[in-house]
Amino acid sequence: MGLATFKGGVHPYEGKELSEDSAIRTLKPESGEIVLSMSQHLGAPAKPIVKVGERVLVGQKIAEPGGFISACIISSVSGKVKKIEPRPMPAGGKMLSVVVENDGLYEAVEGFGAERDYTKLSKQEIRDIVKASGVVGMGGAGFPNHVKLTPKDESKIDYVIINAAECEPYITCDYRLMMEEPEKLIGGVKIMLQLFENAKGVIGIENNKPKAIAKLREMLKDEPKIEVVECLTKYPEGGERSLIYAVTGRAINSGVLPADAGCIVDNVSTAIAIYDAVALSTPTVERVMTVSGDAIANPSNFRYRIGMSCNELIAEAGGFKTDPKKVISGGPMMGFAMYDLSATTTKTSSALTCLSRDAVEENPETPCIRCGRCVSACPEFLVPVLMMDVCQKRDPEGFEKLEGMECIECGSCSFICPARRPLTQAFKQMKREVGGIRRARAAAAAKEKAEKEAAEKAAAEKAAAEKAPEGAGKGETK
Ligand code: SF4
Ligand code: SF4
Repeated sequence: MGLATFKGGVHPYEGKELSEDSAIRTLKPESGEIVLSMSQHLGAPAKPIVKVGERVLVGQKIAEPGGFISACIISSVSGKVKKIEPRPMPAGGKMLSVVVENDGLYEAVEGFGAERDYTKLSKQEIRDIVKASGVVGMGGAGFPNHVKLTPKDESKIDYVIINAAECEPYITCDYRLMMEEPEKLIGGVKIMLQLFENAKGVIGIENNKPKAIAKLREMLKDEPKIEVVECLTKYPEGGERSLIYAVTGRAINSGVLPADAGCIVDNVSTAIAIYDAVALSTPTVERVMTVSGDAIANPSNFRYRIGMSCNELIAEAGGFKTDPKKVISGGPMMGFAMYDLSATTTKTSSALTCLSRDAVEENPETPCIRCGRCVSACPEFLVPVLMMDVCQKRDPEGFEKLEGMECIECGSCSFICPARRPLTQAFKQMKREVGGIRRARAAAAAKEKAEKEAAEKAAAEKAAAEKAPEGAGKGETK
């Protein structure tokens, strides 16, 4: 059988060799600030439930979910709450954060780390633990995991897919976890399968990680419900839609949730976070991150306390060996260029990629030569060259007509474009604009509907009052 794959995609320089043999090193700072942002997930920011001056413990909930799509925040250290104020975020801007002065004692709440037999837990108990542990998608999107694990119809889920492609260049944290903690990953899959009896587990791994494939296949040889699928190394194999297609042959778009196509997809770090929460009573207080790139002295993988600053992690990797032209939160294809390295880390901080060259700066944009390479590369069957035309004309309607909202912002078109056109950047901006227009349209439609209903109700009441016999309804006061 051929390797699982999808249409389109590109082959950027992988850069994995810089850090793939760097075993995970655990960082536990003895002092300093831990900055716990209220927005470490998709959806509404969390709401602080602690006060300045209060002492908090490792594993203590310090913020409640701010809505249905939201997640709680758990303290990763013990110490005093020093401030509650906006602090810089890795993707830019500031976000309300609880700042804890780490006392270095790592005193934890009762029961923290206790082993639990998850096979005896009910589905609801598992979901409640995942929610209370603040588990979110750790691949970058940060979707609250308890919501993902609660689809409308759980009997329709026939695939639990572990996204182990790790297709972004330079990042190797999930690879290290597969090599060092495979039993936890398998445990996470089993917990998820306990929620979905009709599903089988599939771990999709790119074929540039043969050791991880061999190790997991060996460990799973007597597990008929979990399979390792070898995927062709191609970016963006780890895109949710690309992986679902590669593994199941099912094509989805933005109007279809993976669960509607029978799939629950989580990446390696997230599956391990589920295992930690459910089997080891350990909520999301730490994660593994790759600090790499040609500008960093010692490319490394760290298990770090969430809320440490990016500067601290860079220092732990030996600092810069050369002046970095660009530091990216995440990988070079989908990450965000950072302007403030004092920014905090979050549950979704999978990598810091430090590069000595900025390809975009060095190769200025030239006119489009209509080569069509962007079209061949797009995994979403879009036509980036035409989408760029409507972006330049500031034509949101035209963008919608070209299905531009289906763009997953993977960066493949920009990467392949010989004219170095900032395609993905333009699409991100236009998607925001169209999103705003759609929200305004929906709000106007809701207002119109509410006004119409109020008018109809008033008319019905008036008609009823006119129809009622003289004196009706006035007798009660007598
Ligand atoms: S148009 Fe969007 S989805 Fe298609 S290649 Fe470009 S960034 Fe990726
Ligand atoms: S890849 Fe670049 S140059 Fe080629 S058609 Fe697309 S936008 Fe134009």
